[in-house]
Amino acid sequence: MTRLLLFDVDNTLLWSGGAGGKAMGLAFRDLFGIEDGFKKVEFSGRTDRYIVSTALRQHGIDGDFDEHQGRFLERYYAHLPQALREREGKLMPGFPALLDALTKQSHVRLGLATGNFSHAAQLKLAHYGIDGYFRGGGFGEESEDRAVIVRRAIDRLGEGLHSAEAVVIGDTPHDISSAKANGAIAVGVATGGHSVEQLKESGADFVFQDLSDWRSAVATLTGEA
Ligand SMILES: [Mg+2]
Repeated sequence: MTRLLLFDVDNTLLWSGGAGGKAMGLAFRDLFGIEDGFKKVEFSGRTDRYIVSTALRQHGIDGDFDEHQGRFLERYYAHLPQALREREGKLMPGFPALLDALTKQSHVRLGLATGNFSHAAQLKLAHYGIDGYFRGGGFGEESEDRAVIVRRAIDRLGEGLHSAEAVVIGDTPHDISSAKANGAIAVGVATGGHSVEQLKESGADFVFQDLSDWRSAVATLTGEA
C-alpha cells in the first residue's frame, strides 16, 4: 500500500530545547523593541503564522501583516542557527532509525506537515542531521489553520494518492484534527505535552507513547500492522 507520511517537527521529530521560541523572541524584540513578546501566546501545535499574528494582535501592532511577517522572518532566520547551537535539544526516541527504515520502503513518501516556517524547519532538521529524508511538505507561513497546511502537503506530495493514504504524525490534538479534517489517518505520539489518552480522545487512529519501538511504528505507518 502506498503511503504519504507527513511528520510534524517540534516534539515529534525533535525537541529544539526551546531554540525556536528563543529566536522568535529575539526577532520580535529586534523589530518592535518588546521583550518576551510571545509570553502569552500558546505555541503547542500552532502554526508560526498564527503565533506571529497573535503576538502582533496582543501588542496592538497594526500594519500590513505580510510585511511584518517578512521582516520577522528575516530576523528569526538570523537568530535561529545560534539559538540551536546554544540550546541542547535532541531527536525524539526512535529517530533517525525510523526514518532510515521508512526510506527503504519503496511505496512510502516522506514529507512534513509542520507549523514551522519553511526555512526554520529546514534549519532545525539540518541541525539534527535529518533534513535529507523529506521531499517537502506544508509549512507555517501558509496559514494560521493547520488543516490548510496538511492540505497543501497532500496536494504537493500526494500525486496519485487518496487522502486516506496520507498519514499525519504529530504530538498535539491540533495535528490530529488537521489530519481528520483532510480525511487522512492521524497518528499521535505522546512526546510533547499531551498524553496518550488526550491524543486518543482528540480522535487519533493510532497513538504511541513514543516511537522508540520503530519496527512496530513502521508496520503501523505503512498500514501493515
Ligand atoms: Mg509538534
